[in-house]
Parts: sequence; structure tokens; C-alpha cells
Amino acid sequence: MRVTFWGAAQTVTGSQHLIESASDRILLECGLFQGKRAESYAINQRLPYDARAVDAVLLSHAHIDHSGNIPNLTKSGFHGDIICTHATRDLCAVMLRDSGAIQEENVAYLNHHRKSPQPLMPIYTLADAERSLRQFVSYDYERWISVTPRARAMFGDAGHMLGSAWVLLELTEGTRTVRLCFSGDLGRRGLPILRDPSPMPEADYLILESTYGDRSHPPVNEATSDLRRAIGDVVARRGKVIIPAFAVGRTQEIVYRLNELVNHGELASVPVFVDSPLAVNVTEVFRTHPECYDDETKRMLIEDGDGNVFGFARLTYVRRVEDSRALNDLDGPAVIISASGMAEHGRVLHHLRHTIEDPKNMILFVSFQAQDTLGRRILDGQRYVKILGDEFTVRAEVRHIEALSGHADRDELLDWVRPQARRLRGVFLVHGELGPMQALAEGLASLGITDVRLPKRGESFEL
Ligand SMILES: [Zn+2]
Ligand SMILES: [Zn+2]
Repeated sequence: MRVTFWGAAQTVTGSQHLIESASDRILLECGLFQGKRAESYAINQRLPYDARAVDAVLLSHAHIDHSGNIPNLTKSGFHGDIICTHATRDLCAVMLRDSGAIQEENVAYLNHHRKSPQPLMPIYTLADAERSLRQFVSYDYERWISVTPRARAMFGDAGHMLGSAWVLLELTEGTRTVRLCFSGDLGRRGLPILRDPSPMPEADYLILESTYGDRSHPPVNEATSDLRRAIGDVVARRGKVIIPAFAVGRTQEIVYRLNELVNHGELASVPVFVDSPLAVNVTEVFRTHPECYDDETKRMLIEDGDGNVFGFARLTYVRRVEDSRALNDLDGPAVIISASGMAEHGRVLHHLRHTIEDPKNMILFVSFQAQDTLGRRILDGQRYVKILGDEFTVRAEVRHIEALSGHADRDELLDWVRPQARRLRGVFLVHGELGPMQALAEGLASLGITDVRLPKRGESFEL
């Protein structure tokens, strides 16, 4: 048995790991690599294995760095099932179509700037994304799922986003059975809306995410007061708050927290806009999956004045382009939540162009910013940034709410692994940059796990 790491290998995005035995080929996820545009195109476009030979895909959650290259996989001849939870399936239905449209836009941009007689083709189109949805098969948590005649899998709550799961894969080869646990992206205890991660299952091997392997987050409950303070500060100087947020997960969490502030009469008087058609669609998916909610959210649904935890009187969801443009002319303070979360594309770019040069305003980051993204450049304090081809001077205040992470920090990752540490024969760290990985490897060693690997892209290991 063998595992090969084809993505999220010493980097955060592009998650895909291939598990092979004599008879089976099971792909853990098929995510999009995100980074410099031309490099991303090259990595995502060519799948490093034969798609036709893959038997099944197991998908931990809908985030595009985990699911986003599935339409390319099906387009390249993969005919098997894509197995995930119900909410993940419904989120992918919205997100992959959106991603298909983005792929078409990206390639138009690249072709315009390449000046080569041979135009590039999109990695996949909206139509390819729609076709891939036919292969999704969804299950609830904590049920054994037959993947192939020799492999079964189970999802457990990962507490990271709606529908997110860790995956336990049990694969038999001859007389030998190996249990492999894949953490997916592991959330935190106490996140709003979601149930807490359920305990790590017994396993021989673990593939563990390491996004924040070198960090401790401030307590989760500080996030709402940080948000209140940031908005209050900007409203006092009559500026705008621009929040680049993933349309999926983070946007709903921010709205949920703002709704809480409104209910307690603690939100400064300011209009709030969610300007992302994808976020609007995804919020509808959130509403239809109460089976994923934690007890507090179920209670809030009953107690909330309008019975709507993803909306309040001062909040407007913006779908139409004209309405989005009209926000530029808005006088006075406002909060604009807009995708994409790392400011790589989407409507948030227009809002940044209009606000970034005025010190009254604030760019408020609420999630991890990957290397080589515009979000990361702004967060790292670059004075000049390019947005949609033009250079801007960053004069707006830049702030980051660290307590808002959807990922477990170092201690939370180690706490999750600890009860199973003695049984584990090996751990592979993925979904992190090298520094956090090395720090987490040291932490795992202190739990008595000696065989910790930091795979490079394309590296294989025998199980
Ligand atoms: Zn994720
Ligand atoms: Zn991820």
C-alpha cells in the first residue's frame, strides 16, 4: 500500500493525496492550487496521475482548495463516485459552478497577457463543473461507507465549516488491513454554527493538516468583540470597513456574529452589505442544513427575533452587479463583506480599489492569507499593491482578527491527536508551510510519535 502526496505538500492549497493498493486507487480530495496565476494554471491543468484509473474520491469538505479541481478530474476521464457529506455536496453544487466561471475568466486574462498565438484553454468550464456534480454521492457522519469491495470509509465532524469532515479509510490488501485517518481541515472548539470536532478515531496512520502548527490563537470568544471594536473604530471616523471573506463559511460566520451583536444592541449604527453572489447562494445552503448546527445555533434560531441567524434588518445581500457598483458611491460609513477571501479575484477587488488609499477606511482580514496572494501582500504591510492592473498606495488601516480562525491551532491539533498517539505508526503533515510543519512535528515528537514526515509534492510512502 502506498500514499502519494500531489498537493497541499509543504504548502496550504491544492489538497490531493492518492492511496494505492494492488487493486484500489482512492483519491483523497482534488483541490485547486492557489498562488501566482500562471504557475497555478500549470499545476492545476495537468493532473499528475491517470484520472481514468482512480476508483473513487473521498472529499473532506467543500472549500475550493480541497474540491476545486474535481471538474478537471471528471473531465479527464474519472468515472467513479465522489463521496462526501450531504452539506458538502450541496455546497459543491454552488461552488464548483462558480469556480468554473472563474476558470473561464482566468484563462481569458492569461491569454490577453501572454500574446501567444496558441490560446490556453480553461482548466474546466462551468459546464464541466455541472457535469461533475452527477458523480457526487453523499452520506451522513459516523456511518461506514463502502468505497470499493476492499475499502470502506467513515466521516466524523471536523468542526471547520458546514459539512466538513475528517475521513477514516480502512483498506484491505491481501490479509492486511490498514486504517488511515485524514484530518481534512480541522476546526476549533466553540466556533459558532458548527459542532465541535469529534475525537480522532483509532488509526495506524494519520495525514494531518498543519496550517497553524506553530501558533496559538486567541480564544474563539474574543472574535465577536474584536469585530465590534474594529467596526466601531471605523464608524467613529466615518470610514468603510472592507472585509475580504471566503463566500463559504467565513462570510456566514461573520454575519452570524454581527447578528448576535445586533441582538445585544452592540453593533455601531452602520449598514452592512454582503456583496458576493456566491455568498448569497451559499447562505441559502447553510439555511437548508440545520442537521449540521450546534445546539447554540439551534437555540438562537428559536430565540432570534426574526428567526434568521444569517440576517438582520440592517444587512443587505447584494447579488446584482449594478447594486455592487452602487456601493462605490455610498456616502458615509459602511461594512462591506465581499469575496474572495484572499483578495485574488471577485468583487472585493473593486471595493479595495475604491477604499485602500483613504486612511479613514479599514481592510479587515478574517482568515488565513496564502503566500503570493494580494491579501497576503496587504497583510504583510506592503506599501504599494497592484489591483486589477493598477498600482495603489495602501493608506487604509489594515487589521487582522486572529481569533477568527477556522483552523485548529498547535495545541488544538496536538490535543486532537494525543488520545491516539500511542497507536499511530506514522504521521504525514500536509496543508501547511514548512515552518508551521516543522514546529508541529516537534510537538508530535513530544507525544511520542517518532515517525513524522513532511512530504514534498510527488513524494510516495509505503504504508
Ligand atoms: Zn477548509
Ligand atoms: Zn484547506
